[in-house]
Amino acid sequence: KGVMEKHLWRRSMQLRDKQQAWQESPEGRKMLELRRSLPAYKEKDALLAAISRDQVVIISGETGCGKTTQIPQFILESEIEAVRGAVCSIICTQPRRISAMSVSERVASERGEKLGDSVGYKVRLEGMKGRDTRLLFCTTGILLRRLLVDRNLKGVTHVIVDEIHERGMNEDFLLIVLKDLLPRRPELRLILMSATLDSELFSSYFGRAQIIHVPGFTYPVRTHFLEDVLEITGCKLTPYNQIDDYGQEKMWKMSKHAPRKRKSQIVSVVEDALKAADFKGYSPQTRESLACWNPDSIGFYLIEYLLCNICESDKPGAILVFMTGWDDINSLKEKLHANPLLGDPSRVLLLACHGSMASAEQRLIFDEPGDGVRKIVLATNIAETSITINDVVFVLDCGKAKETSYDALNNTPCLLPSWISKVSAQQRRGRAGRVQPGECYHLYPRCVYDAFAEYQLPEILRTPLQSLCLQIKSLNLGSISEFLSRALQSPELLAPKLGKMLLVAAIFNCLDPVLTIVSGLSVRDPFLTPFDKKDLAEAAKSQFSRDNSDHLALVRAYEGWKVAERDFAGYDYCWKNFLSAQSMKAIDSLRKEFLSLLRDTDLVDTNTTTHNAWSYDEHLVRAVICYGLYPGICSVVHNEKSFSLKTMEDGQVLLYSNSVNARDSKIPYPWLVFNEKIKVNSVFLRDSTAVSDSVLLLFGGSFSKGHIDGHLKMLGGYLEFFMKPAIAEMYQCLKEEL
Ligand code: ADP
Ligand code: MG
Repeated sequence: KGVMEKHLWRRSMQLRDKQQAWQESPEGRKMLELRRSLPAYKEKDALLAAISRDQVVIISGETGCGKTTQIPQFILESEIEAVRGAVCSIICTQPRRISAMSVSERVASERGEKLGDSVGYKVRLEGMKGRDTRLLFCTTGILLRRLLVDRNLKGVTHVIVDEIHERGMNEDFLLIVLKDLLPRRPELRLILMSATLDSELFSSYFGRAQIIHVPGFTYPVRTHFLEDVLEITGCKLTPYNQIDDYGQEKMWKMSKHAPRKRKSQIVSVVEDALKAADFKGYSPQTRESLACWNPDSIGFYLIEYLLCNICESDKPGAILVFMTGWDDINSLKEKLHANPLLGDPSRVLLLACHGSMASAEQRLIFDEPGDGVRKIVLATNIAETSITINDVVFVLDCGKAKETSYDALNNTPCLLPSWISKVSAQQRRGRAGRVQPGECYHLYPRCVYDAFAEYQLPEILRTPLQSLCLQIKSLNLGSISEFLSRALQSPELLAPKLGKMLLVAAIFNCLDPVLTIVSGLSVRDPFLTPFDKKDLAEAAKSQFSRDNSDHLALVRAYEGWKVAERDFAGYDYCWKNFLSAQSMKAIDSLRKEFLSLLRDTDLVDTNTTTHNAWSYDEHLVRAVICYGLYPGICSVVHNEKSFSLKTMEDGQVLLYSNSVNARDSKIPYPWLVFNEKIKVNSVFLRDSTAVSDSVLLLFGGSFSKGHIDGHLKMLGGYLEFFMKPAIAEMYQCLKEEL
């Protein structure tokens, strides 16, 4: 042991000497000078003192104040100075690969070293890390995976979790795991870093941990919304009532122009487009045309116009354009390359900044461009908080960002552009004021901004149930509900609508099939329809259908699978019947999860078993489905050969072709209840169950006494709308009775 200690001591001394030598060298001094100018430097001593005193410290500070590049470095430097260099091990997590890579490179160069010496990085499938690496930047996912095999993070002395304000799912998960770990590792230090001000939430989560705020300074930024931008372009606004019905169509036609345009041509395109879309009334179409970012949209023309305008002005400074993702950045870049001014490399340096770019291009965004050259960076929301480009004076903000959301058609999470929050918009604006007073152009009307959410919902709260469950299971984090109950903000495991359905099923003693239905609604559709075998697949599904209900078809498919699974033939069964084995398994595990939730809350007798398969009353289940899915109802209108469907909100609706009801030319019921509508050109219903008048009348609504009247009123509205006189009469009687 003594030999080992001696070795580590000697190694630590060497590290200290090396660090001192760098700090005293001319380049090292220059670097230190630069680092001292960052606001984070002023808090260095307070910070190190807090870290040696407390196990958890929270640091908040304006983006660009030096949190990511400086704070891990302060800790490393002070450990090395204290001759603990060879024994310290600091891990700093980043939500994105690109920031882990670019920050580690920056910190290594600030220390006069190569990447992989004392500073390294590790992201999935890639890394740069040596024997002497003491400060490791990695993605949050990498640390989570390490925790799986190394529960106590043996040897690690400091964990720094960066960008916690983003509230990504991995970060929220990591915090739960680390909170568990702290009592087991009393000497481990946890440092949380965040850009915005919700640090209170984190502080109280970690037992009132100390918050250190790094005050920042930004110059004022002048804000322009779309209406102001239009004034700059010289476009006239057309009031709402002067627009003809074909406005929208005309707009698209007019905006298709040849690529090479002069400024005046751009103005005329924008003007035409805006004439067609009403900018006084900000109709939904206007918002939609602004919301879509493709080369033919107004947004692209406005960006081109504004960029030309700024490049021709005398005010120096780089321009940062916030786009939604790699694809629209690329198409914008192409479009701008075709512009005589913006595509001229002797006047404009056009760069992209997004998660999947090469590191050589990454470095360019920090460089000062040559004399008389204007730097334009087209970025995703990476440039919002993770990456700071110093010389930005102008910001163009498209108002959208890609976030994981929910694809209802496939019941899978996906990345879609959606409106940002107010906090994000402010953050984007702030990027313009780092070196001098700046300008920010929000390419959407002020009223759209006013409608933005204050904060973005944490990912854990907006992610569909099944992907959360998968994540918990794949990380071996134990029981889903128990784990989530310890989160910073716990998601609701069961949508109220589905929860209600389970309760009523328990009351009517048909819990088993309803557990299957509710679980089925939370996973990817188990009935597969391969493109080339559509007919076969649909025929396979209709074997399970007897009574115009996709939900009951699922119950039968599941029960068949259960039997087959007992004989180890689950896969065969799925294969033969065009079912997804993965979904079946997910349903199986969700059923257990939901049942234990019901038991925990005492809503169901602890002895309730779910072995009443095959013995339930199908009519009763249908009624319970109706109760759960109401007011998702549509009316079946029969005509000579077939039928059409309509809902009160959408008018005519269609069935998803996979539905058993789509294969029936005559549904022998007047109503369909459904869980989900999807709008793709027309409105489609996914799974549906047919119900009778009396079922709708009795089960279409709540059972609680106080609500009955309200529900009846609503139901009455439906009935009047659909003009079903017989049932309307029944409804009238019922109301009088009550
Ligand atoms: P924060 O994490 O507080 O947002 P950072 O530590 O990322 O701040 O940035 C601090 C400063 O370092 C900023 O001025 C930024 O421009 C600069 N910086 C960061 N990375 C690089 C780099 N690769 N090259 C040059 N400057 C950089
Ligand atoms: Mg940072």
